[in-house]
Amino acid sequence: MAAIKVLISVDMEGIAGIVHPAETTPTGGDYERGRALMTAAANAVVAGVLDAAPAAEVLVADSHGPYRNILPEDLDRRARLIRGKPRELGMLAGLQAGAQAAMFVGYHARAGASGAVLAHTIADAILDVRIAGRSHGEIGINTLLAGSYGVPVVLASGDDAACEEFTALVPDGLTVPVKRGLGQYAADTLHPQEACDRLRQGASQAVSRRDEHRPVAASRPLDIEVDLHQPRTADLAALIPGIARTGRTVTFAAEDMTAAYGLLQLLAHIGP
Ligand SMILES: [Zn+2]
Repeated sequence: MAAIKVLISVDMEGIAGIVHPAETTPTGGDYERGRALMTAAANAVVAGVLDAAPAAEVLVADSHGPYRNILPEDLDRRARLIRGKPRELGMLAGLQAGAQAAMFVGYHARAGASGAVLAHTIADAILDVRIAGRSHGEIGINTLLAGSYGVPVVLASGDDAACEEFTALVPDGLTVPVKRGLGQYAADTLHPQEACDRLRQGASQAVSRRDEHRPVAASRPLDIEVDLHQPRTADLAALIPGIARTGRTVTFAAEDMTAAYGLLQLLAHIGP
């Protein structure tokens, strides 16, 4: 197999064993354990990619909170780490460098999904995002962003709700569910090592079958609607040229997914 470039975007809420913000926020009491679990999951996926494609170039994008969670010194040295924020393309920074496949690891369901662990959409400031009338969480938004670069998402992992969200958009996509959501802060979870074994196997399979996967394009026009949690965030958003506001909902037309994603990142940042 010719050398390929694979972008692995790693979030934290959908990692096996993790159910609570105390495990995912830098000030949380169990954060150090959470980031170790996240790093181990990233390593399992890197190993799976390289099992199938030993010459692959592997980029790991730390994609949670401050984007500084994965322990750089513990990451598989065969991968490169994209770390820190803000940055263009956020969770998918690295796409610009021309990847042939993307993988979503540790992902979670969209804001409001029921029985889904740590479900949200980008930040608590955002209650819902609709693109061309369809509600999307990070899985949907990022799948469309990758698609706009011609990159298929060949694997998604998280709780069962996250995996279902991905399958609804990418019916032939490979998923690795690592826990069953019992609520926002509760799950029935695989042992982290068992999850890592499945991730390694799934990543290897996904790379072997990558030619079967097609990028998912967003339907045009890219009319974006965002429901915000706080009126104050809507007040600020309305100051951005091109954004219209009705109550706590703001709308804008984006030229492409990169522009849409940039504004979504900004809205998440200006919210409380
Ligand atoms: Zn996250």
